[in-house]
Amino acid sequence: MRERTGNVAAEAREAFAAWISESDDGRVFGEVRIEKDGSGYSIRHIEDEGGENLDVSTDPTDAREISRFTESGEYRPLKSSPNLRRRWELRLSGEAALVSAMNYFYPAGAVHWHLDREGELETTSFRENASRQSGMYERAKHLSDEAAQNAAKACCEDDVCLKKTLWDIDDDTPLEAERGDGEIPCPEPCSVFVSFARRVRSFEKEEIYADSDGLTPSEKEDIAALVDGAASGGVSFAREAEFEEPVNERRMRYRRLTLAPKLRPEGESG
Ligand code: SF4
Repeated sequence: MRERTGNVAAEAREAFAAWISESDDGRVFGEVRIEKDGSGYSIRHIEDEGGENLDVSTDPTDAREISRFTESGEYRPLKSSPNLRRRWELRLSGEAALVSAMNYFYPAGAVHWHLDREGELETTSFRENASRQSGMYERAKHLSDEAAQNAAKACCEDDVCLKKTLWDIDDDTPLEAERGDGEIPCPEPCSVFVSFARRVRSFEKEEIYADSDGLTPSEKEDIAALVDGAASGGVSFAREAEFEEPVNERRMRYRRLTLAPKLRPEGESG
């Protein structure tokens, strides 16, 4: 990796603006489409390409509020989750405003995108990241390779995170999860992943309490919560980062990998 000189943020801003300008149809970055609009830029949700009935703003800092909550008003702990709300448009005057808005939508996304394209983005493996954790997150250090792989499949694939996962478990153990097709690189496990890994470690530790069918206490708790929810007319999901709650999407994705095979007779698939 060559030594970097100069101002990375300024280089990234120029490169990002040039990349947008080179395309007649605009570019998709995460869940937004960015188009050149005269001397400025237009940013919209990718589902709002028709452009009707949008709430238009010219202030890049409005991106902070737009990206904070989902359509249903839930806080978004992970900006790269595919749950950005719709029906807004930012019409921005220049490169600085464009990158400022993008940094609210996808913090550090444009700089990471630029460094990745230049072959200069440094990555940090899960083991290296976990070795730095302390306090309540220290538990993530003890996760087995198999559980770490499943945690990444449950937490990082495109259905739940639009970043392209570049990190591995360690230098000798590549990630098995689908890394994703998006433009925004993920060079290191994020805090949401570390928090999820900590919860998955607690699932691993309770294996010693599995019953004669191999089911652990929290697996039975999850099955009961799903049955209760379905019997009451609908399963309501826990918030995105509430991994201690039974019906959390990433937790359920992990169960699909680890619990569903235990429940299905051999040879049947889901
Ligand atoms: S660690 Fe996983 S969930 Fe977190 S930003 Fe990267 S790809 Fe997304």
